[in-house]
Amino acid sequence: MAAATVRRAVETTGGLAGVCTRVPPAGPDVCRCCHGRTRPGFLLCFPCGSVRRQVWRPCDRVAPISLYRRGDRLHVILRRYKDDPDAGRREWLSGQVGALVSRFLWEHGSCVAPGGWDAVAVVPSTTGRSGAHPLAGAAGRVPWLAPQLVEALRPAGARLDHNAADDRAFAAVGEVAGLRVLLLDDTYTTGARAQSAASALARAGAEVPAIVTVGRVVTPAAAPAVARWWRSRRAVWDPTSCCFEDAPSPSRAGYDESDTSPMRTCELPSPR
Ligand SMILES: [Zn+2]
Ligand SMILES: [Zn+2]
Repeated sequence: MAAATVRRAVETTGGLAGVCTRVPPAGPDVCRCCHGRTRPGFLLCFPCGSVRRQVWRPCDRVAPISLYRRGDRLHVILRRYKDDPDAGRREWLSGQVGALVSRFLWEHGSCVAPGGWDAVAVVPSTTGRSGAHPLAGAAGRVPWLAPQLVEALRPAGARLDHNAADDRAFAAVGEVAGLRVLLLDDTYTTGARAQSAASALARAGAEVPAIVTVGRVVTPAAAPAVARWWRSRRAVWDPTSCCFEDAPSPSRAGYDESDTSPMRTCELPSPR
């Protein structure tokens, strides 16, 4: 990737920050797994509870970078960076998505996966899209992140649905046993796809310290209680906050997307 495009990605992180919504830490009405809404008194939201029963080894730690509603600008960006008919626009949006993921992992890698990770893998598309996943393309634009990306999974045939997860939906690619693989996805609705992927990796002997997703869908139109939750939880996104912290923390020094050291996030500083 050209250095100019990297610079542009860095410059546009601020733009994408404006369309993100802060993700709350786990609490009385916040799911301890996906950080979406849960009914007061329930540790897990309904989709997490349901999906987690369907796979052998779900991942307990889901780190959404932002909440969003269908139709929000972040939702539009997360669609168009994949399928906008204009290649130049896809490219530009991909740079923004890559910059956002990069910034989040840089700032919050030690919150998301306190023990670190050995590799980063994108949850494969199950829509029949050919070639590398656009999110791998977006993350691959970031020089410090690119060498960590591995193709650890492929679709393996079992059908997935919003509320139907399956260990056999994905199969591991290559030797992943013993590796700590951070999973990356662009959207998280019920978690059926991401949790199926996490379980498939665990079945192959890998450890999945966390699933990082760019956006966690919230549907305020589903019920008045969800709408109230959205209104009360809606807060301006801040790159120094994540859903594992109660308050913003000082920005981690030395952020530089053009850093080409592949091991930067694997050698995380001690948790703040
Ligand atoms: Zn949940
Ligand atoms: Zn954090």
